[in-house]
Amino acid sequence: MSDVINWSGLGFGYIKTPYRFVAHYKDGKWSEGKLITDAQIVISECAGVLQYAQTAFEGLKAYTTADGRTITFRPDLNAERMAQSARRLEMPVLPEGMFLQAVEQVISANRQFVPPYGSGATLYLRPYMFGSSPVIGVKPADEYEFRLFATPVGPYFKGGVKPLTIRVCDFDRAAPHGTGHIKAGLNYAMSLHAIVDAHENGFDENMYLDAGTRTYIEETGGANFLFVTRDGKIVTPKSESILPSITRRSLCYVAEKYLGLTVEHRPVKLSELEDFAECGLCGTAAVISPIGKIVDHGKEICLSSGMNEMGETTKKLYDTLTGIQMGKIQPPAGWLYEIK
Ligand SMILES: *Cc1c(COP(=O)(O)O)cnc(C)c1O
Repeated sequence: MSDVINWSGLGFGYIKTPYRFVAHYKDGKWSEGKLITDAQIVISECAGVLQYAQTAFEGLKAYTTADGRTITFRPDLNAERMAQSARRLEMPVLPEGMFLQAVEQVISANRQFVPPYGSGATLYLRPYMFGSSPVIGVKPADEYEFRLFATPVGPYFKGGVKPLTIRVCDFDRAAPHGTGHIKAGLNYAMSLHAIVDAHENGFDENMYLDAGTRTYIEETGGANFLFVTRDGKIVTPKSESILPSITRRSLCYVAEKYLGLTVEHRPVKLSELEDFAECGLCGTAAVISPIGKIVDHGKEICLSSGMNEMGETTKKLYDTLTGIQMGKIQPPAGWLYEIK
């Protein structure tokens, strides 16, 4: 198969692959879990997920390193975060061992869809869990389904990196003490209008503020912010309603331990924006996407790194983390999870 796929021409869309993993939760316990070929799901019209959005997901990538190994990056942290999401949504926790088994089995079974080294493409993995039994009075479902499928995706930066223009958004993403810190589908459902509206107005993304005071920076719909100060410090916003990005946490570790930079994880005021030299969005898909301009109700804040390329420090962070991921730089213990 790999000789017929045009890896670098792939976009970020769903392409069906032959195998997916499924496990069912019923009568208080998880079934063993197995690979299946059927990509369709049949559930009750009254399933908890369909009526009250009881569902959470994860996202990670499998890829080929420079020395030909098939790797996923820190999947144990995805398992841990999915457990946190499950607890907050009153869903059963999938044991970490089973999560990792699903990751391994789906990659192995669909191995011809793991793109070769250097293609820039990856095999995106989507684990998710949902309430599958009927629920009409508002309560958690009794039965759940966990699934993990894989879909090949193309290089994120096609034809080079282009810094984004984003806007300070008037809609809120997550309430204080709400569900912003978990990877729940409901957080995305309510961001759809805001992102369509942003695109219609010529912006690539929304910068969400804290819903309580609207004076602190939170994140975008699907990525955490990372700022670089004029004197080369890394600053990342801290808030209970930000989703703890694995990419952002890894970049901060790399900044400190590999690049010797100072890292501050603290609340960041919107009014501080003008003090920053560089800004990037951190997430699994792109690792870091540079921001060139932030528009706050007509007021333009142009980052000094400009609209043509990644800022100097952002680029160093990007090169170091992707170098670690691709097996070209010695990784911290446990970061690369090899699929044999
Ligand atoms: C998934 C996600 C991120 C990025 O997390 P990674 O673990 O780095 O992929 C950031 N913000 C939100 C809201 C997300 O859902």
